[in-house]
Amino acid sequence: MNIFPWKKKTETEAVATGFVAGTPQVQASLADLVLNYIEEGVLITDAVGTIQMVNPAALSMIGGLSADVTVGVNVLSVMKFENGEGLAIDDNANLLMAAIRNNQDFQTRDYILVSIQGQKRPVAITLKPVGAQRIITFRDITKELEEEGEQMDFISTASHEMRTPVASIEGYLGLALNPQTASIDERARKYLEEAHASSQHLGRLFQDLLDVTKLDDKKMKVRMVPADLTQLVRSIVDGQVPMMQAKNLNYSFGSNEVSTQPEHRLEQMVYASVDVDFLREILNNLIENAIKYTPEGGAIWVNVRGDGDRVLVNVTDTGMGISPEDLKHIFQKFYRVDNSQTREIGGTGLGLYLVKQRAEAMGGKVWAESSFGEGSTFYLSLPRLTAEEYNRRRQIIANQEAMSVG
Ligand code: ADP
Repeated sequence: MNIFPWKKKTETEAVATGFVAGTPQVQASLADLVLNYIEEGVLITDAVGTIQMVNPAALSMIGGLSADVTVGVNVLSVMKFENGEGLAIDDNANLLMAAIRNNQDFQTRDYILVSIQGQKRPVAITLKPVGAQRIITFRDITKELEEEGEQMDFISTASHEMRTPVASIEGYLGLALNPQTASIDERARKYLEEAHASSQHLGRLFQDLLDVTKLDDKKMKVRMVPADLTQLVRSIVDGQVPMMQAKNLNYSFGSNEVSTQPEHRLEQMVYASVDVDFLREILNNLIENAIKYTPEGGAIWVNVRGDGDRVLVNVTDTGMGISPEDLKHIFQKFYRVDNSQTREIGGTGLGLYLVKQRAEAMGGKVWAESSFGEGSTFYLSLPRLTAEEYNRRRQIIANQEAMSVG
């Protein structure tokens, strides 16, 4: 049986673009060898997803169909997917199919491939459009995910265990620095202040690592409650005002603009369902960064406004800004901008990663705009609740509370 029907049709093309040396026959047989024996599934489709070529590894993961049956049918007729929650991914919502049609690169590790016999395996999928053809490669990542899970468990246990003694060191250093509980000379105070700041940094690092493992593992529970977001954001940020004052930063909340448009009115009332702890962590992180990366005498502006069916929160600073190259990466795990200014400022590179994870867990999005040397704006957008919907949900919660008391 010829399991490589593509050879019949496109041998000349395959050979012309091949990277192996030798006569066309040698090249084609080496290409066969690779496709026959690699563990990655390889599929080539046309621009609408009709399969033109399939290799043995792909056939085996799909569920043992023959190439003759598979070639000529649409990729989604033989490849069925579920998401991480075990729900079937509807063909219309399949991002692989959308990318095939839109002639786009695509990668995911979030899809579970369900074979014809119903066997499920998590797969990493890559789609590469080449001219009129789409090359899809995929591999079973069951083992990889298990290993990552073990690593996560280790990091989580280690950071949890180390957080306790660090908290105790921080506590004792605090006592040593408090004139009411200890007397020390000025030189010792300087050293202990440094040690205290470092232990706080270490404590923060362990806490961030712990949060990362919980969020990556989806172990952190999200408790969404309807909230008056303007009021909630204002009260959370108020807690950071002393830190801004300590650095002589000017703070303002609400719209700075004079505008007749209702959405620009000072302190517009807007509502959203949020996890209050997540929102607090997100804002504290954005404000801490704004303080950290803005020199003395600068300004921070926070605003909350409705933007259609979204609520948009912005944290703007007049700080050092971020270059376009770094801006693409700042929400990645452990990414820190490395320049002479940032090197002196401590950090873990986990803050914005956590901000993004928490925002997405609430159905929101975060992004940043920045002008290098002039300042940055970080945006958080969340699904908006109408005033009626907010009141209705509050009423349900109030009724539930009344019932549980009664
Ligand atoms: P870090 O712990 O290093 O602050 P984050 O994940 O919070 O880590 O931020 C990643 C990087 O993004 C930082 O190292 C910093 O260079 C840059 N950054 C974040 N916020 C700002 C800001 N408001 N202004 C300028 N640079 C920022």
